[in-house]
Amino acid sequence: MIDREGGRRVSAGGANEHMAKGLEGRVAIITGGSRGIGRAVAHSLAEDGASVVVSGRHAGRLEATAKELEGLGVPVLVVVADVARREDADRLVGQTKDRFARIDVLVNNAGITRDTLLVRMKDDDWDQVLDVNLRGAFLMTRAVAKVMIRQKSGRIINIASAAGAMGNAGQVNYSAAKAGLIGLTKAAARELSRWGILVNAVAPGLIDTDMAASIPPEAREAVLAQVPLGRIGSGREVAEVVRFLAGDGATYLTGQVIHVNGGLYM
Ligand code: NDP
Repeated sequence: MIDREGGRRVSAGGANEHMAKGLEGRVAIITGGSRGIGRAVAHSLAEDGASVVVSGRHAGRLEATAKELEGLGVPVLVVVADVARREDADRLVGQTKDRFARIDVLVNNAGITRDTLLVRMKDDDWDQVLDVNLRGAFLMTRAVAKVMIRQKSGRIINIASAAGAMGNAGQVNYSAAKAGLIGLTKAAARELSRWGILVNAVAPGLIDTDMAASIPPEAREAVLAQVPLGRIGSGREVAEVVRFLAGDGATYLTGQVIHVNGGLYM
């Protein structure tokens, strides 16, 4: 665990001119926050003043992202954790509570793919993808919900996928995990509403990250040909929607899936 206290950014005119930002005083955990969409989300929430906890399996990548976030002047906590492991998920939540005493936003973003055709798919390809993308989100949501219930407030934002709504050839494991995540979102939204906890999903289409780069060029082109906006999306374009769901403008939204896909799935 690396614990950092970022300095408050104050304008040249001095502390009196400090303007409160939308998420100042709030604490956000982003799983898979080291790169790709998770890194973009961490940036967006930190720009709005949130204290951010970034988590992933590789300390080196997290360190690099934490340095960037510190530059935004917010407190940053790095926790190396594999979301698919219950002990790690519980430790991530415990260390966040110890450091910040509250958790306002959880972004279940950590995800992997193990793409292959159904008939060639190994048990392990299925298990790993379900473990990280769905079990990981369950473990984190369960642990964080206990904290949010005591607070009587919170936002949980699950990063699903267009594949979870429309299915994708070569991704029965991933499509099933993401469809499951959408079901988890809706059931948790119903259960947790009485404590003022809002649970939503953001379902990206093709987004320019390491994950998308691992798709063979022909398959990428085939997906792009179906995107009305005619281009790949950026992590930032997903992060903007997460920022909205985490903020004060999204108080009457729960159990929803917001698609960010250039029109790929309508
Ligand atoms: P990347 O592969 O670029 O990044 C994945 C992130 O998840 C990394 O920070 C990685 O860190 C982390 N991660 C992976 N496995 C684990 C684990 N077991 N425990 C903790 N962290 C883990 O992916 P994207 O940014 O593209 O994807 C982010 C999310 O968006 C995923 O849920 C993905 O399914 C979803 N998505 C992506 C789309 C795209 O086109 N890119 C489209 C639709 C949905 P590390 O490896 O260091 O652990």
